[in-house]
Amino acid sequence: MEIILSVNNLEVVYGGIKALQGISFVVNRGEIVTLIGANGAGKSSTLRAISGVVPAGAGSIIFKQKEITNLPSHLIARGGLSHVPEGRGVFTKLSVEENLIAGSYLRQDKPQIAKDMNNVYEMFPQLGERKKQLGGSLSGGEQQMLAIGRAIMSGAEMLLLDEPSMGLAPLIVQEIFGIIKRINSTGKTVLLVEQNANQALKVANRAYILETGRIIMAGNAVEMIDNPEIKRAYLGGH
Ligand code: ATP
Repeated sequence: MEIILSVNNLEVVYGGIKALQGISFVVNRGEIVTLIGANGAGKSSTLRAISGVVPAGAGSIIFKQKEITNLPSHLIARGGLSHVPEGRGVFTKLSVEENLIAGSYLRQDKPQIAKDMNNVYEMFPQLGERKKQLGGSLSGGEQQMLAIGRAIMSGAEMLLLDEPSMGLAPLIVQEIFGIIKRINSTGKTVLLVEQNANQALKVANRAYILETGRIIMAGNAVEMIDNPEIKRAYLGGH
């Protein structure tokens, strides 16, 4: 197995408060790994530090054998890592098609871009039917699909997905998790941050549990679903 991403003793500090207190984990190429934890545990901060949106106060981040700690985010993106932030960040005044084209702005390989565009429309028929519609006019689920579609258009080998299920109706949540599986089966590695631990553990290979800026548990996702402690704390079980 090849480690594609390695995070070592990562700290993120906001105005003297340590949101991440030195976390370490790895993601192997081809995996879906999920980071789960309560509100404020530091999940989003982890993704933001990896993609260069917030500085790493300490520690290192290695992607494909190269250190990317505190590089400018466009260079990290160009290296093959795409971040789909919480709240999706769809361009509301641009059409669906323009949003997707925007996703490919760092690329030169026109034929592959066209191929990826077709793949996105094939994977998300709802987007194909709404190419000229403005991003802002889409439903929450469609905006999430567009945000993921844009990440695919970047040609990234690895996607960082921040709470893709947030605010969506249960049926749409199912659809989004199905799509994550499908994208993974096309060879893309996924690091998934979720509060919906139940669903996240169902699609993931492995999981890390984050509590107040520390990883308190790591393991195989299927085994975690059956762990009584996890059930009680994160899965609404008894
Ligand atoms: P959520 O699901 O709410 O995003 P999370 O697990 O992703 O939760 P983070 O957003 O990473 O957690 O936040 C971790 C801690 O850092 C929280 O205590 C939060 O209040 C704090 N924090 C996050 N962003 C900032 C910021 N820009 N400035 C100050 N504190 C912040």
